[in-house]
Amino acid sequence: MLEKQTLGFQTEVKEILNLMIHSLYSNKEIFLRELISNAADAADKLRFEAIAVPSLYENDTELSVQVDFDPKARIVTVTDNGIGMTRQEMIDNLGTIAKSGTREFLASLSQNAARDAKLIGQFGVGFYSSFIVADKVTVVSRKAGVAPEEAVRWESQGMGEFSVENTVKTTRGTEIILHLKEQESEFLDEWRLKTIIRKYSDHIPLPVIMKKKEKDKEENEIVNKATALWNLPKNEIKEEDYNEFYKYIAHDFEAPLLVMHNKVEGNQEYTNLLYIPARAPFDLYQRERHHGLKLYVKRVFIMDDVEQFLPFYLRFVKGVLDCNDLPLNVSREILQHNRQVESIKSGLTKRVLTTLEKIAQEEKEKYEIFWDQFGSVLKEGPVEDTQNRDLIIKLLRFSSTNSGDIKQRVSLDEYILRMKPQQKHIFYITADSFSAAEHSPQLEIFKKQGIEVLLLHDRVDEWLTMHVTEYQGKTWQSVSKGKLDLDEIGESKEEKEEQKKGEKEFKDLIASVKEALGERVQEVRISHRLTTSPACIVIEDHEMGLQMQRILQAAGQVVSQAKPILELNPSHPLVIQLNQQQADKEKLSNWSSVLLGQAILSEGGHLDDPSQFVQQLNKLLIK
Ligand code: ADP
Ligand code: MG
Repeated sequence: MLEKQTLGFQTEVKEILNLMIHSLYSNKEIFLRELISNAADAADKLRFEAIAVPSLYENDTELSVQVDFDPKARIVTVTDNGIGMTRQEMIDNLGTIAKSGTREFLASLSQNAARDAKLIGQFGVGFYSSFIVADKVTVVSRKAGVAPEEAVRWESQGMGEFSVENTVKTTRGTEIILHLKEQESEFLDEWRLKTIIRKYSDHIPLPVIMKKKEKDKEENEIVNKATALWNLPKNEIKEEDYNEFYKYIAHDFEAPLLVMHNKVEGNQEYTNLLYIPARAPFDLYQRERHHGLKLYVKRVFIMDDVEQFLPFYLRFVKGVLDCNDLPLNVSREILQHNRQVESIKSGLTKRVLTTLEKIAQEEKEKYEIFWDQFGSVLKEGPVEDTQNRDLIIKLLRFSSTNSGDIKQRVSLDEYILRMKPQQKHIFYITADSFSAAEHSPQLEIFKKQGIEVLLLHDRVDEWLTMHVTEYQGKTWQSVSKGKLDLDEIGESKEEKEEQKKGEKEFKDLIASVKEALGERVQEVRISHRLTTSPACIVIEDHEMGLQMQRILQAAGQVVSQAKPILELNPSHPLVIQLNQQQADKEKLSNWSSVLLGQAILSEGGHLDDPSQFVQQLNKLLIK
């Protein structure tokens, strides 16, 4: 027999414990939901393994979880006859946190308890929430199929360490004993415990049992409904039931934003109960992030986190999928190359997308919340899922010069409806913030002509324009790329002639500025884009956008930087004055640099030599 070991918690566990005890205090009753949830998971795992090895049931096939309390000993006990844990499993599962991104998550937390409570809820609190109410927790477990003498006892006061030692346990499964803190006597009460169980665990597919004492007799009472919620007819389910079930499977505190519950019959038979959370999880952008679907086959739990039934860009969807036609022994490998799986996936994807479309039309405020939380992820959709490309594009929203308000976003359909008769392209500008985009000098002529421009300030936007090149026959055109098509932006004949005249008049100045700037620019030319700014920079049509260049550089990639084209505004006093005073070579050179510098700055770029820029500016100011 192995001797008693005392081990330290992983650093992250210590931090979580500390945080949880402080920030979740007002939600402390959720410890019971978490422990019952673990018991239900343990029952699911046993049922699953027993498909291949029926002897694991050891003649005890009625799986349940029992909640007891003892006011004298001041303990609450949660006992299940599920899969149980070995010594090593206890050390690993109850001493570390395996979730990737935990460290980053912890670093993102503040000392603001209310905010942290919500975030920590999204993270999933689990077993460690026991320590919100208990100052000592004892776990005794025997793994299914293992001898009674090889059971293990785990104990901790939730400070820095825990102990494990072997013990004897005849019954299979796990018993969790919470030694309640002095101020937590409220949980030593039958009514209180029952209320919590019904509130959070009514619709888990596992009976939660409490002992009922009547006179001298003791009887078992099933406290929850213990029916799998997704199998009930929709008209028997209240919104509250849906919400609590969501909180149970998602370990969330907040109600979900959307519920999708469908029974599909015919070729494929399955039931889905899908949710969209009201808040994005902390690890939404991590590639290895878990998916949120639980797979059941004919009401038997098969596995968690299945990713085969929804595309990656819908990874925020949580819920349950219960299929009738898959074999019980289905594995992740089988799921990967299965036509039935493909067809269910395509059905679920359509369902989520059409639900979102409906919300976008009928409940705009709700859609706003959705878009704020998950919009950036949905933008991966048209590229990943070419089959539903147009449906997804319909759901995308962008800021636009139409409103000048970051929150009032438009769809491409709305944009196309508002296009001018002569307009061929969807015009956009990219920048790293809404206000940088909104104030770009390149927009000036578009504002003057009343042409709407999309203000793209999300990091994925430029990538999107590169990969989704066309929609409803319209292609994208960046307002800071290439030469402007004056007809398309609706310039009149007179305006065009004026432009031509300008080009002649400033021919010499253009040449001198180009000479002064040398290799720093690719070209200098007269601008048709500007009304109030003296200068702006643009790049060639085929070049990578400046914002994209910066993103890639920040990510450590080597980008061959396109040299900018400097455009000057022929109606701006600075440019006119410069044209008249070309003879002063030093002044011309300083002005050229300063104009280029401010054009780069107002576009959100960085100067290669900021102090030189300042010196040149100061020289001009002194004069
Ligand atoms: P999660 O349930 O999200 O994995 P928890 O902190 O709730 O996180 O539990 C950690 C792990 O401990 C579980 O994944 C499971 O492996 C193990 N565990 C907890 N409770 C039980 C139990 N009653 N029976 C068997 N294993 C359990
Ligand atoms: Mg858990």
